[in-house]
Amino acid sequence: MTTETIQLNDDAGAWMPVFLDMRGAPVLVAGSGVEARRKVDRLLKHGADVDLLFNGSAPEDPDLAAYLEAGRLGRIDSARRNDYRLIVVAERGTVLADEMQQHGRHHAIPVNAVDDPERCSAMLPAIVDRAPLTIAIGSSGTAPELARMIRSRIEALLPHWIGPLAQLSADLKQSIRSRFPELPRRRQFLGWLFNDAPADAMANQRPENARQQIESALADEQFTVTGSVALVGAGPGDPELLTVKALRLIQEADAIVYDALIDPRILDYARRDADFIHVGKRGGRPSTPQDEIHDHLLALTRDGQRVVRLKGGDPMIFGRGGEELEFLRKHDIPFSVVPGITAAAGCAATAGIPLTHRDHAQSVHLVTAHCQRSIDRLDWRSLARERQTLAFYMAVSRLEDVQNNLIQNGLNSTTPFAIVENGARPEQRVITGPLSELHTLAILNKVKSPSMLYIGSVTQLADRLAWFGQSPLETSNRLEIAA
Ligand code: SAH
Repeated sequence: MTTETIQLNDDAGAWMPVFLDMRGAPVLVAGSGVEARRKVDRLLKHGADVDLLFNGSAPEDPDLAAYLEAGRLGRIDSARRNDYRLIVVAERGTVLADEMQQHGRHHAIPVNAVDDPERCSAMLPAIVDRAPLTIAIGSSGTAPELARMIRSRIEALLPHWIGPLAQLSADLKQSIRSRFPELPRRRQFLGWLFNDAPADAMANQRPENARQQIESALADEQFTVTGSVALVGAGPGDPELLTVKALRLIQEADAIVYDALIDPRILDYARRDADFIHVGKRGGRPSTPQDEIHDHLLALTRDGQRVVRLKGGDPMIFGRGGEELEFLRKHDIPFSVVPGITAAAGCAATAGIPLTHRDHAQSVHLVTAHCQRSIDRLDWRSLARERQTLAFYMAVSRLEDVQNNLIQNGLNSTTPFAIVENGARPEQRVITGPLSELHTLAILNKVKSPSMLYIGSVTQLADRLAWFGQSPLETSNRLEIAA
């Protein structure tokens, strides 16, 4: 019997996590350097009554000295030596740690000795703080670095508003219990609270709105799972260029409606059971008509699904984001928008092109050269001015028009250009040259879509500042290779 119990304990490891109420609790911190200050900061945050044990007349760390001065800390008080609730040894050297270990053992006071698991009877875990929610990560003293790394990952996954939302549900705990006395229904309600409309309201910086929704759901005991759409920018390709928010929404989505330019590695972040709906061009077929995309969004949200409408780059830049939002508003479908790194910024970064530069360009123009109609509507005279950077989207099939229009409107034919094909992806290529050779060089190098075309004096820096993927080839080499 006894042996069995011991066996079970061994399986779980010796270290059992416990949350202690530290408000007003006397704690002794031995040490006065930066490590001691870190521990003191954490203890003060939890309301502990901290005494410091250190040599000399003042603590080494200036913050600790200031805390002492301001009365936020006391010096060790021999009268309560035996009443401390916790002792933290934040100073290297075994003598002090030994002494404290013995004192702790004698008076049943837990002792934590920093970086000295042998002398610890308590460990302070790495913490993700979303008060009132706290996540503690421990490694039984074996790998504190790993615990810290895991902490950063969890940190990135948990939005900051989850704390205030947890607080809100705690404030309303009594009414939630009395409105939904049966556990299954109460669970459903809490699922709705933490995942649905109230969570959206918190994420969109509308805490009042979240409270109202919860209160009105409590008033009539009704809450419906509502569909919603997040219009999310996926950046230029590299999955690591997603925003933290985009990543979270992709991971949570019930359905993902995505365009052709979305990197498949990004879709891997989604739930395996999510619906994936591809609405981009496929195998030479024309892209899905906008109406059909709208129909998808309507059907999915009517069904209560949380949809991520995933677009390449930024959804509000040459992405028809505006049209989709107008449609959603017309049908009263709740939405949010998550910006992404637009191709102009993303591809310039990976090609080493500063879009503005004190010596070269004071403005950037985002321009589309998608079709003859957009070419005809552009103000070429103003685009042909000096000291600015032009960033053309969708220009691959219109390079001759772009080159001719700019030169005819007075831009110097030696102005440098850079084409960035498949920017921010493993197969990125950068082609540079003078404007007069734009069309020829693009043909010789068989430039394909998707590509960004940059024109302006900043693009000459691409050769010098290249750091990602293949280096740009010199013009002469390229011509020789092509010949
Ligand atoms: N909303 C997107 C643009 C959509 S238009 C954004 O903000 O980036 C599509 C055009 O974007 C392509 O024709 C190409 O010009 C550009 N583009 C998108 N991703 C690109 C990439 N990885 N490399 C080069 N150009 C890219």
